[in-house]
Amino acid sequence: MLESPLLPQTRSLIAGEWTDEGEGTLLRVKNPATGELLAEIPEAGARDARRAIESARASMALVPDPGRRALYLNRIHELLLENREELARIITLEQGKPLRESHIEVEYTAAFFRFFAGRTDLLDPHPFAVPNSPLRWVVHHRPAGVVAMITPWNLPLAMLGKKFAAALLAGCGVVSKPAPETPLSAIALFALAERAGIPSGLVNLVVGPAEPIGVELCSHPAVRVISFTGSTEVGKLLIRRSADSVKRVSLELGGNAPFIVFEDADLELAVESLMVNKFRCAGQTCICANRVFVHETLASELLMRLGDKLPKLVVGNGMDPATDIGPLIDPSAWEKVDSLVKDALSKGAKLAHGGNPDRPRGSDWGAFYPPTLIMGANEGMRLFHEEIFGPVIAVATFREDEEVLARANSSQHGLAGYVFTKDAARGTRMVTKLQCGHVGLNSSSGPTPSAPFGGMKASGIGREGGAEGLMEYLETQTVVEGI
Ligand code: ADP
Repeated sequence: MLESPLLPQTRSLIAGEWTDEGEGTLLRVKNPATGELLAEIPEAGARDARRAIESARASMALVPDPGRRALYLNRIHELLLENREELARIITLEQGKPLRESHIEVEYTAAFFRFFAGRTDLLDPHPFAVPNSPLRWVVHHRPAGVVAMITPWNLPLAMLGKKFAAALLAGCGVVSKPAPETPLSAIALFALAERAGIPSGLVNLVVGPAEPIGVELCSHPAVRVISFTGSTEVGKLLIRRSADSVKRVSLELGGNAPFIVFEDADLELAVESLMVNKFRCAGQTCICANRVFVHETLASELLMRLGDKLPKLVVGNGMDPATDIGPLIDPSAWEKVDSLVKDALSKGAKLAHGGNPDRPRGSDWGAFYPPTLIMGANEGMRLFHEEIFGPVIAVATFREDEEVLARANSSQHGLAGYVFTKDAARGTRMVTKLQCGHVGLNSSSGPTPSAPFGGMKASGIGREGGAEGLMEYLETQTVVEGI
């Protein structure tokens, strides 16, 4: 069992109390690298979700002013950094990623709290005059209401933290449902929020199965925003379920990121960027390059350079400082990645490195997948349509700019995309036409707190981070005053 000063209790936080009432069943949290049991958490259900929503709604009546809320955010920022080591340990133990990546995740999460703490100005009312009108017009931003946050297991602290920080600045009450694989990071964050002095009952954490809790969150009229990060399939379900009570949905869904390397690219930069982007979190992020398109004249050079680097990557337990790639989240994730690789190979792709791993060991755990390089991928293969979510680079070649642009945009998804070229005009042309909400031009950098991040097409609705990210949790109200 995991002992941690940040986890004095491993339970749900409902109406200001860490509760162990639940529905009678226990959620068993395991280390994906070893199978070790980390925690047993009493599972909450629909009734608990309802109590949490009602607590969040009632507490909103007493929500402090924006200046005070900014103080809470600043305090959480400090607490996250003060507890960086311990939080990183919790993330790695329950999620599997290398410890150094968990450190980055903690810092990244903390940066959202600092960013939103500094943007109370975004809440200021805007008075304005209408020509030839004697009336006074003022636009206000009001808290949207209770926000339900449903978050995934790949960045268990950051995906929750970025929503939490924005919603709190907006003045909303919160009900969070973390992924069942990784609830401990969420529990630690809520324990720190409590230490920061956030009014009791305003922020609630409901740990339990997706179905009854999700149904309650989508149907309860007090929930005004469903803020979700996860698969497109579940995102669509949440839209449908939220329709009856006309909730706002803020959805960060799956991607199918194109990574385009033109013949005039700085190839070393492209390769370095791909390595960082692709193997982060063992390839299990929605901004990981999914389809690598390289100009046909560079294909053999790319193969050589990647072929040099992949064998040096160390796969293992994330707690080991030497590890570059941790386990996949569970054996079914392993099976999915392996089936995508096998499908590609059966359709003519060539295995240049990795692949053919042994199945996860006898127990259910340790789903380690080797870094894998596939050349000759194309749109006839599943891995060009589905998120790989594993450490597999799939490379296709192209000839013409218009051809690769059409192929990149042919996906229903449009989250991240990357373009590598030294020709500025070509770069601008491509970026302008690429249907992705986050585009790296000669960079594979991910999001940052001050910039809006989100997807086009089936990759989502709304943005996280930046002023746009705050607006997700605000209602705009126009007041017209007779003078
Ligand atoms: P992933 O494939 O990355 O696990 P999911 O979309 O399945 O992505 O899960 C993301 C989050 O959505 C998790 O917290 C999961 O428990 C939750 N979830 C899954 N199914 C539902 C559902 N039917 N209703 C509400 N939440 C759900």
